[in-house]
Amino acid sequence: MIIDKADVVVTSPDRNFVTLKITTDDGLTGLGDATLNGRELAVVAYLTEHVVPLLIGSDAAKIEDTWQFLYRSAYWRRGPVTMAAIAAVDMALWDIKGKAAGMPVYQLLGGASRTGLLAYGHASGKELPELFDSVREHLEKGYRAIRVQTGVPGLKAIYGIASQGAEQGEPGVRYDHEPARRGAQPVQEDWDTRAYLRHVPGVFEAVRNEFGPEIPLLHDGHHRMTPIQAAKLGKSLEPYDLFWLEDCTPAENQEALRLVRSHTTTPLAIGEIFNTVWDFKDIIREQLIDYVRGAVTHMGGISPLKKTLDYAAMYQIKSGMHGPTDVSPVGMAAAMHLGLAIHNFGIQEYMEHGQRTNEVFEQSFSWQNGMLHPGDKPGLGVELNQDEAGKYPYEQAYLPYNRLADGTVHDW
Ligand SMILES: [Mg+2]
Repeated sequence: MIIDKADVVVTSPDRNFVTLKITTDDGLTGLGDATLNGRELAVVAYLTEHVVPLLIGSDAAKIEDTWQFLYRSAYWRRGPVTMAAIAAVDMALWDIKGKAAGMPVYQLLGGASRTGLLAYGHASGKELPELFDSVREHLEKGYRAIRVQTGVPGLKAIYGIASQGAEQGEPGVRYDHEPARRGAQPVQEDWDTRAYLRHVPGVFEAVRNEFGPEIPLLHDGHHRMTPIQAAKLGKSLEPYDLFWLEDCTPAENQEALRLVRSHTTTPLAIGEIFNTVWDFKDIIREQLIDYVRGAVTHMGGISPLKKTLDYAAMYQIKSGMHGPTDVSPVGMAAAMHLGLAIHNFGIQEYMEHGQRTNEVFEQSFSWQNGMLHPGDKPGLGVELNQDEAGKYPYEQAYLPYNRLADGTVHDW
């Protein structure tokens, strides 16, 4: 199992994806997701110029050794570009090892700890009737847990509203139900934390009144609040029994969570933009979070995320892996294999990919009654249709950014 070839494939069926395809001398292939939304080509260059030449001729069986070599030999560690590139290699080598063994990757990770993975979908609406319709639509599709995002009176465009941007004249073509838009410049959205804090508790009260107490409801604060604002929101949402409040503060300042935690029992989920176990170390040890949001693609692969989640398990902290559409079907498959195997699985985020994406990436996962399962094909269970991939060249696209009413740039 010597690595003969490693190709970096960029394709943009419904959105941009970067995929690493490793081929061994005995003809096995493995796929890894290296997609970094809005900075895709930086990872392409990192892989093509600095990683692929190091892989050729090395032993595809040595997953841990290859990971440590790529992480430590660069000298410059961590960061989203580096870790997405290393993640793609790690995933591809697990895929190859599974194919060599004739087993799905979850078997190599210890076997299934459950029959399927509870997944949550994204319901949203500018106003309550649209939000209720979206929640109903998700329930009809079988979702058993739902993230709720809402418009805020006085704000034109904010994070997480699927219908937003559909109006004529708004710049940038919007990807299906996700915030990134094609174009040379990021689109500006607006923000007012006080208006948001006044509005959101009433929305959750209305959703609970309409849909009852049972369904797990989640909410994403998207890094916008100060610690004291986040504490206030967590406290004001307690009557509505959230499954979690996500990214309540920009968590680079991890001490902020001590303050939030001391004021609220609303469970906290953090870490979709984290890259390594070091970003989680203190907030896990101090039990400042309840769910680890790290994605396989952005945490350096299956190997390091499994270690992080095993560490979190010591503190009864569970997984809540990031799973928007900018995690490719390969990254999603990796998350499903890992989630099926670990003991402390919590929930999996799931946004369905578009039809073109599903034609480029041939997948074997199942989605039934609100539960995901990665399937039992050897490896990760995803194959790249390169003819289909070749039809969709890269198109520049960016996530939006925020400004306050006075023009100040704010966390998006
Ligand atoms: Mg999020």
